Amino acid sequence: MGKPITSQIQPELLARENTVYSVRVPLVQFKRLAELLNDTQGDFTAECRFAAWDAHTKVYGQLQAELGLLCQRCLQPMTLNVDKPFSLICVESEEKAEALSDELDPVLLDEDRKIQIVDLFEDEIILQLPDVARHEEGDERCQVGKMEFGKLPEGIKEEKRKPFEALEALKKDLKLK
Ligand SMILES: [Zn+2]
Repeated sequence: MGKPITSQIQPELLARENTVYSVRVPLVQFKRLAELLNDTQGDFTAECRFAAWDAHTKVYGQLQAELGLLCQRCLQPMTLNVDKPFSLICVESEEKAEALSDELDPVLLDEDRKIQIVDLFEDEIILQLPDVARHEEGDERCQVGKMEFGKLPEGIKEEKRKPFEALEALKKDLKLK
């Protein structure tokens, strides 16, 4: 377990110590993320280190979260387990962020060269969300296809019967004329 940090930090100061820090923040504190979740219970956690990196400070480590989403196939709750390495470069301005190469992920420090832990990680977590949340293929809880299939034959029979009835009625009409 690392040294706990939870609120505002100054990355370049933390980079002076070769320490592993552990972060634990309730998911509900990530306001933009929370709006995208079906369930905001649980915590975001990360183990991270800070290091001087080319006139900036790099924050890197492993992040973990269980994100409660709504499956867009069966419309039931599902959990997305996120457990991945991350690497973020702290920059003081938008211009410096743009000057970084594309494969680096910048995070913006405030004018005191500080950042809220929530702001440090929020975009990184949001990036883990799928375009369309779905249970994994073959998940037995994801049953919408089977349920609709059960209902479908009856509907089809009725649809089919009606045109014939209409045709019969039409024939009768023609014979009468
Ligand atoms: Zn599903």
